[in-house]
Amino acid sequence: MSRQYITTAIDYPNAAPHMGHVLEKVLADTVARWFRLRGDEVRFQIGTDEHGVKIQRTAEAEGLTPKELVDRNVPLYQDLYKRLNISYDKFIRTSDQKEHWPTVIELWKKLDKAGKLNKRNYTGLYCSGCERFMTKKDLEEGKCVNHKKEPEEVTEENYFFDLSADGENLKNLLTKDWDGEEYRMVPQFRENEILSLVDQGLEDVSFSRPKSSLEWGIGVPGDDDHTMYVWCDALTNYISGLGFFTDKEDRSWWDKPTKVTHIIGKDIARFHALIWPAMLRHSGVRIPDKLLIHGFLTSEGEKMSKSIGNVVIPDEVLEKFKGNPDPLRFYLSHEIPVDRDGDFSWDRIVKIYDSKLRNDLGNLLNRVLVLIDKEGGKLGDVGKSSDLMCDGWKAYEDSLNNFQLDNGLGLAMNITSKCNQYIDEKKPWGLEGDEKVAVLSELAEALRHIALMLLPFVPKTSERMLVQLGLKVPQTLEGKTEWGSEKDWKKVGEPEILFEPLE
Ligand SMILES: [Zn+2]
Repeated sequence: MSRQYITTAIDYPNAAPHMGHVLEKVLADTVARWFRLRGDEVRFQIGTDEHGVKIQRTAEAEGLTPKELVDRNVPLYQDLYKRLNISYDKFIRTSDQKEHWPTVIELWKKLDKAGKLNKRNYTGLYCSGCERFMTKKDLEEGKCVNHKKEPEEVTEENYFFDLSADGENLKNLLTKDWDGEEYRMVPQFRENEILSLVDQGLEDVSFSRPKSSLEWGIGVPGDDDHTMYVWCDALTNYISGLGFFTDKEDRSWWDKPTKVTHIIGKDIARFHALIWPAMLRHSGVRIPDKLLIHGFLTSEGEKMSKSIGNVVIPDEVLEKFKGNPDPLRFYLSHEIPVDRDGDFSWDRIVKIYDSKLRNDLGNLLNRVLVLIDKEGGKLGDVGKSSDLMCDGWKAYEDSLNNFQLDNGLGLAMNITSKCNQYIDEKKPWGLEGDEKVAVLSELAEALRHIALMLLPFVPKTSERMLVQLGLKVPQTLEGKTEWGSEKDWKKVGEPEILFEPLE
């Protein structure tokens, strides 16, 4: 058994949560559930990044204080993730002065003591939309890529984090190790993208803003005129949630042999690949093991945007399926490989619901259970193995261990298809006696394996399947994946419809 600490990026709650947030949480939750099922001890943290000018300005525009704004919006995230069945252990908020701030302030002091922070005047190109200084490399035809607007030249005094000195170290970290510490990226091609940034030369990173331009944040210790900028504040959530540098510190979820995996979007990969490990290294904290980097979600083939009018509201998707999170969870895992961008389409999710969930899976379970019910609900011997298992557990486990979640889910659905073929060939309703019981028992056993394989992806559906089959929901898969491993399983439960037709 190993220990796993999984984190997602923390969400910026200047507005209600969107589908990008959902994609990442569902991915992380599926990974967390898989780790638990295979027997690992897991700690899973999510949270919100609540400071910065954008929150400050949104609050002003709405006639609220920044604190009032985040206190209103953060529960929208917590509530949505609850309804999506995201099994997190810890929700960290960067506005939490008791839990988050002490770690951040100590980390700043450590970096300062290590000589990594220095205050100087800086003149640069600042995009007010992005709230950050841009380098020429960030711009396209002189304009911010995100805001299609020329940044303005701004001069101000900042504390800088001396990242430029670590180019060689970071290159070593990404290619082999930095003084024995390794840091890997999934998918691996992202490493090359980051390495090319290192090869172009790293610049120092602005770590503070004058208080006059950023008030809503954590003050720089010992300097009342400055507020910490996002890096030291937000990235530090991963260790503040463990109480680092306080009397509540729990390093057992960070230090080896625990495996630390940050799950993030491709847009913030470089900050996590470069700034974060350097911050940790210079404050005496070990570097995480892995970055799992997902792509972006488009809507009906186009970038989601208010002006196109194609923004998908997570609540509307949940409503469509009467609050059941599993059609959306299934869709995201089935349709979007972890390492690629994906698309949300209303037609497609309805099609997937009808064909994969309602027909292939739901009808299969119902047909088999109704037929067994007619025979008094009794199960017979299932033999030693079955062709229904297709590629079996080994291929499934390999896929999930390598974060090829769509592949793992596909393997479970292959067994479902195979069972449907088998039922059409055997026509068990026309059989009699032992032969009938044998065919139906084989199908029920295959359904047990399908339900177990679906547990990380669509936990509620799996649990309902297991209950209908007359089985308990297991905490881990230990002793469950052999064909016929449930020796005392003699009877199925009550059949009920798994997925209702859509109105
Ligand atoms: Zn911008």
